[in-house]
Amino acid sequence: MIWCAASQRLRCVARLQTRLYSLNSTAQTEARSNLFGKSKSDIIKIAEEMGQPAFRGKQIYKWIYSKGATLFQDMVNLPNSLQEQLERAHCVDYGQILQNQLSVDGTRKMLIQFKNDSRAAVEAVFIPEEHRGTLCVSSQVGCSLSCTFCHTGTQSLYRNLTAAEIAGQYMIAAWIAKDLPRKVNQRPNVSNIVFMGQGEPLYNFRNVSAAIKLITDPEGAGVAPWRITISTSGVAPLIPRIAAELRVGLAISLHAADNDLRTEIMPINKTYPLPLLMKSCTEFARIAGPQNRRITFEYVMLDGINDSDRHAKQLVDLIHGLPAHVNLIPFNPWPGSAYRSSSAARVAAFCGLVRNSGVHASVRTPRGDDILAACGQLKSVHDKTTSA
Ligand code: SAH
Ligand code: SF4
Repeated sequence: MIWCAASQRLRCVARLQTRLYSLNSTAQTEARSNLFGKSKSDIIKIAEEMGQPAFRGKQIYKWIYSKGATLFQDMVNLPNSLQEQLERAHCVDYGQILQNQLSVDGTRKMLIQFKNDSRAAVEAVFIPEEHRGTLCVSSQVGCSLSCTFCHTGTQSLYRNLTAAEIAGQYMIAAWIAKDLPRKVNQRPNVSNIVFMGQGEPLYNFRNVSAAIKLITDPEGAGVAPWRITISTSGVAPLIPRIAAELRVGLAISLHAADNDLRTEIMPINKTYPLPLLMKSCTEFARIAGPQNRRITFEYVMLDGINDSDRHAKQLVDLIHGLPAHVNLIPFNPWPGSAYRSSSAARVAAFCGLVRNSGVHASVRTPRGDDILAACGQLKSVHDKTTSA
């Protein structure tokens, strides 16, 4: 019995390793066109161009997104001749895993590279908890903004990720967490997705929304939209569209409730100052409706900068009337960072003041900081100071 269970486990590990190897080996494939990232209608069209009926396209779509197949030979309800035809012209490529690091607290950080382009590498982080597992995905390689407390902000923007590259981070994590092939009626290990990795998701709205459509399609990967959250530094004009078009959750990286202080630490505040940002948040809440989820206001606690009682009062006044949850994030240090985190006592006092005013507030426990996987610590390549 014991031997059987152990050998079964070994077989599973071997299968997973083969799968990951195949994820990586398909990534090295060249000129074939990538079906991963294509919509259902695109795949149906491709099947029809190959002389197949539309239902074959639907089968291929399901194999790719719901069952997580990366090899056409695994798509066993397709005729062999079609499998071979697909193999010659297409591939299913999520991206290549360059590094896969596990923190002592179970957090996993993956460095993923795309299309053999050594500069197009991003980090995705999986944070398992007792009742859920959150995947933090990146939306851009680097970031064009330079928030002074953020490690990603020291890296220049190289390019936007495509829908395939964003959704690919989810598929890789789902494979590693054994959620694929998708099991109906079973809570997946990767239960939540947050756009809190590298980049500003609203500066890549088109591809982020295409990726969300792929990830949430019930006939595909089937992640519920309410389990997804977009975090933004405050691209005010696009915030209402998160509610209107995507129906996912919203987190605002606020970090200061005083307009001048916010401009000092977050340059985007010059373009979209606080009054404009708050107006967009009100509009988001109106469109999302009474069933809406609260807006999460993220607030990094920087010692002596934004953490006094006065700052807490300003914060409460600013978000008054909005359905809000304040998430206080003790500053996570990174090599060369100029700030220190507020003390635990200061964070607790600040949190108490916010709560006493009737606003929901919590303190985020840093996860994965031994492998630089915590909030704001992600960075893959190229300093702003050293790159063009
Ligand atoms: N660009 C988007 C998505 C990144 S989310 C945004 O800014 O919202 C990453 C979250 O971590 C943001 O709230 C960001 O402000 C916060 N953050 C950045 N650097 C941090 C640091 N060193 N310590 C703690 N939180 C940080
Ligand atoms: Fe970019 Fe967000 Fe970091 Fe600011 S906090 S530099 S917007 S990733």
